Amino acid sequence: MQSNIKLGRIHGIEIGLHYSWFIIAALIVFSLGEHFRQVYRNWGTSQIWITALFTAVLFFVSLLLHELSHSLVAQARGLKVKEITLFALGGVSQIESDATDAKTEFWVALAGPIASLIIGFGCLAIAAGLGWRRPAEPRTGVAAVLVWLGYINVALAVFNMIPGFPLDGGRVLRAIVWAITKNADRSTRIAARVGQVVAFLFILDGIWEFFSGAGFGGLWIAFIGWFLMDAAKASYAQVEITAAFQGMRASDVMLRDCVTVNRSMSLQEFVDTYLLKTGQRCFAVEDHGRLVGLITPRDVGAIPRERWDKTTVREAMRPLEELHIITPDTQVLDALKLMAGNDVNQLPVVANGTLQGILSRSQLMQLLQARSELQLPTAHYPPMAAHG
Ligand SMILES: [Zn+2]
Repeated sequence: MQSNIKLGRIHGIEIGLHYSWFIIAALIVFSLGEHFRQVYRNWGTSQIWITALFTAVLFFVSLLLHELSHSLVAQARGLKVKEITLFALGGVSQIESDATDAKTEFWVALAGPIASLIIGFGCLAIAAGLGWRRPAEPRTGVAAVLVWLGYINVALAVFNMIPGFPLDGGRVLRAIVWAITKNADRSTRIAARVGQVVAFLFILDGIWEFFSGAGFGGLWIAFIGWFLMDAAKASYAQVEITAAFQGMRASDVMLRDCVTVNRSMSLQEFVDTYLLKTGQRCFAVEDHGRLVGLITPRDVGAIPRERWDKTTVREAMRPLEELHIITPDTQVLDALKLMAGNDVNQLPVVANGTLQGILSRSQLMQLLQARSELQLPTAHYPPMAAHG
């Protein structure tokens, strides 16, 4: 989650907004405005909208305080925090380093909901001090803002304590399982599985409510569920990948017997004699023994079939200058990040200008598969890039 608008720094942590935040801000302002208009019939139009806008700004501040609590506790326990981004579904603290012990994970995760609870009950207490009594509607504008902020912050704390990864409650669960089993990987797997179950229930509930007439509200719940499902799956997969490839270098796993083709061959000949015969997905294109590019089925598919016999491999290939090259010493985990970041499935492994091999995503996934079929134990834990 990258922020689009930078707001400044607090304690060395960059604070930013993602564009999607404005969707939720607009929703809050309009639904609050509507609520105020119905309850406070003596308010003028400008008073309604100014109060709604002011409340939305304060809600933003309380979300920020929730994230700051995560981040400041993380900093105090020696973790590096890069950025806090607020987006449609809340905030994300980008904590760069991993929690190295269960205790750190526990307090970093719990700090956010604690902050929200304090803000929530604080607002409700002040409103009560101003004469508001539950369940009556507050009489003044100030009390109305405080009561809304109070309830929303308590709700935020409760929602985030649902024990499914990557919600705060899921991280607390992970920390507890970690402390008991002394196994960081297993704790992430369990918390991520619970997270998937929770997300699935959200989606079911959202769809149910949508068809029961809740309309947009139902879709919103389903959307949150879908987002949580994605995040839980990603953290589960991340454990498997990190555990499998930790410390491994490109030279350990790359395909060495790379098929090379001549650059002046026609595409038709290449397809007939190489692509359909060898079952490989990636071919090195050479010119007098030097690597000049790579050609994959994707590149061939980009050329219309009727032009295959008039097009050379060189014209269809991706030239070396456009490729992301790694060396035999590159860490497999770094190579995977490079593939994901550039949307490529193969990386040529080059040393001294000559091709040593190819590292392909599909081959790495086969390794992962073999590993899981053998049920090999794992000993590492994943980087905690995002924090909900
Ligand atoms: Zn949180």
